[in-house]
Amino acid sequence: MKLSDVQFHKSVGLWSKEVFIDEIGEVIFVWRSNVGKSSIMNALFEKKDLVKTSSRPGKTLLANQFKVENKYYLTDLPGYGFAKLGKNLKEQLDGLISWYLEEKAEYIKKVVILIDSKLWAQEVDIEMYKYILELELPVTIVLSKTDKLSKSELWKSLMHARDKFFWQEIIPVSSTKKDWIAELTKSIKACLLAK
Ligand code: GDP
Repeated sequence: MKLSDVQFHKSVGLWSKEVFIDEIGEVIFVWRSNVGKSSIMNALFEKKDLVKTSSRPGKTLLANQFKVENKYYLTDLPGYGFAKLGKNLKEQLDGLISWYLEEKAEYIKKVVILIDSKLWAQEVDIEMYKYILELELPVTIVLSKTDKLSKSELWKSLMHARDKFFWQEIIPVSSTKKDWIAELTKSIKACLLAK
């Protein structure tokens, strides 16, 4: 199973707060820098570099929408919780992410929160998770870069995620090895097809 017919749709300038509701179902990726987001999205799309690596964290206040099968959006929001950004820019960035999620809540079918399996969920990830729960949006947790862990390390990482994200679907993936990318694809397809 794959996400076929994926095209870059557009970048929405979060700063402009333009009206862009077009009543199309959407799956959102939220993430921290270097978690492996671009690699995961490219693995899902089976493309080499449709999604560009975020070389300058916090500089691009854009939501990048990819249209799948001409029906749905997979959207990549700017990363959150960049430690090196000044307080003002960080607050602005977090505010813009929440603006997008709140404006489009009605059409959001799932929020995929990406967590580095080696680093485990940090305080800022948990804050983001709680905020998304407050919006009553469905969540899937993806643990990235699992090929970097031994079996026992992966088990510990999964147990930690189970503890922090109780009841949520948790999918451990490696985009390098393509491990569990098919399961993530299935989960995304299922939520998009659900009424
Ligand atoms: P982004 O900043 O979150 O978009 O992250 P990227 O996808 O650009 O990846 C950041 C770094 O992690 C790069 O050096 C990738 O090669 C590496 N990386 C991404 N996914 C994996 C993975 O599944 N396994 C391993 N070992 N490294 C990965």
